[in-house]
Amino acid sequence: MIKMENVGKTYPKGVKALRDMSVSIEDGEFVYVIGASGSGKSTFAKLLIREEKMTKGKMTVCGYDLAKIKNKDIPKLRRQIGVVFQDYRLLESRTVFENIAYALEVIGTNPEDIKPRVMEALIQVELEDKADHKPTELSGGEQQRVGIARAIVNNPKVLIADEPTGNLDPKTALDIMRLFYRINLTGTTIIMVTHNRSIVTKVHNRVIEIKNGTLVGDKCKDNGSLEYDYSSGDYILI
Ligand code: ADP
Ligand code: MG
Repeated sequence: MIKMENVGKTYPKGVKALRDMSVSIEDGEFVYVIGASGSGKSTFAKLLIREEKMTKGKMTVCGYDLAKIKNKDIPKLRRQIGVVFQDYRLLESRTVFENIAYALEVIGTNPEDIKPRVMEALIQVELEDKADHKPTELSGGEQQRVGIARAIVNNPKVLIADEPTGNLDPKTALDIMRLFYRINLTGTTIIMVTHNRSIVTKVHNRVIEIKNGTLVGDKCKDNGSLEYDYSSGDYILI
């Protein structure tokens, strides 16, 4: 469903953010993308949603050839991909409900469908009791759960998260990671960008490593899962 062949991205002032990326990601995979700060991870994510254009190579995302995609089809591509950001990017003047509803309004969803779909997304992230709160009344972890609800409310095929736990403490980060694993179980492809190498030493997922804009590692494992750990009485990532 996602295929890059020899993709390069050079920004206007000459920075080569990606040099020669070739990678395929299948439907339903849970893939980590790791690399140091500045290695090109966010550029990789931005190319997938066509926020940036590749300057070299070929790529196909959700059936669209991104070298040839028409401007009118870009919103259709983006509807199939949810994005979660490190800094949540919520509208502070709007409630939790309104923040999520907005994602449906802008794509012209039938008004009658909006409330049930927003509530369903809030239930998935266990925040249904915070629907009328403003983002400033929530913890960082809760704000990120709103960001995730907003990203999944349109049932995207792919969810891209760019350092989604970067601003969170380790325990809250783990709660957020569990949520992504749960979403992956519904069939959604997850692309998880992180510069935190310690996260990926604990998991059994595929890990794509980028260094200076080049793919330097692609370890294919299984999709990983959450297991109940009897010693700690909690779920752990395996
Ligand atoms: P990462 O997410 O791994 O930290 P980025 O993809 O954000 O890396 O950046 C890769 C390189 O591209 C860096 O050198 C960065 O400074 C540069 N870069 C990122 N965005 C832009 C931009 N819009 N214009 C010019 N250079 C950029
Ligand atoms: Mg980045």
